[in-house]
Amino acid sequence: FEESRDLGQSFNRLVDQVQGEQRSQQDFLANVSHDLKTPLTSIQGYSQAIVDGAAPDTVKAAQIIYDEAARLNRMVTELTDLARLQAGRLSMNISALDMGQLTEAIGGRLSIVAGEKNVTLTLKTAPMPAIAGDGDRLAQVLTNLLSNAIKFTPPGGTVTARTFVQNSGVVVEISDTGVGISPEQLPRIFERFYQVDKARGPQRGTGLGLAITQEIVQAHGGTISVTSPGEGKGSTFTVWLPSPQMSTVMRRRT
Ligand code: ADP
Repeated sequence: FEESRDLGQSFNRLVDQVQGEQRSQQDFLANVSHDLKTPLTSIQGYSQAIVDGAAPDTVKAAQIIYDEAARLNRMVTELTDLARLQAGRLSMNISALDMGQLTEAIGGRLSIVAGEKNVTLTLKTAPMPAIAGDGDRLAQVLTNLLSNAIKFTPPGGTVTARTFVQNSGVVVEISDTGVGISPEQLPRIFERFYQVDKARGPQRGTGLGLAITQEIVQAHGGTISVTSPGEGKGSTFTVWLPSPQMSTVMRRRT
């Protein structure tokens, strides 16, 4: 009797889980359709206006078409990446990497962007124990997190990247003094297409960056988490990656 009740409970749990997955799959498809349709509608509208001779400024209309097409292109590339990552089919080019050095390199590249926006970018990095990873993919992770931090920090603010050793692995911590994330939004931030402020305009993101970032980190056996004291109080993203070197050392010791 006990057993059949346990079985019943695990069956119900399984049904809940499957239904949950189906729902998020449906939400996802609805989001993809909507997000792909928006730029297409705009492209259609502006090109029709040019054809009809109804566009007051054809160069401007062409620029909008160009920007929207570029955004569509970005979305399709990101979706393809995400699908491959989730299917575990994205081939990884693994080598020994120093996350301190990589953070320094990516941070250096983005310091111009930060400077233009009058955001101070501080790098507190040091050489780290090697991790086994795909350099291009992890560069993408750091680029996503640092660009977001700069993007969501108003002029006069600060973005800080730190690297340190923790739990047989290496941590890269990126914190900013920017707009922050409310407690309700925090759990949803890594969802595909999730954007707190769906602002319009060609520079707007796709909401796929953090979903991809999380997939890449997990594909490396790592974890990513986010904390924020609340809206207007900045955010901190923490990436942890296991270091095979250190776990070998630990195993040898015990
Ligand atoms: P995108 O940046 O393309 O909109 P992401 O997946 O990178 O998509 O981010 C999803 C959402 O998470 C952003 O739209 C933003 O609302 C929020 N977010 C990400 N990084 C930060 C940050 N450093 N500070 C505040 N909000 C952030």
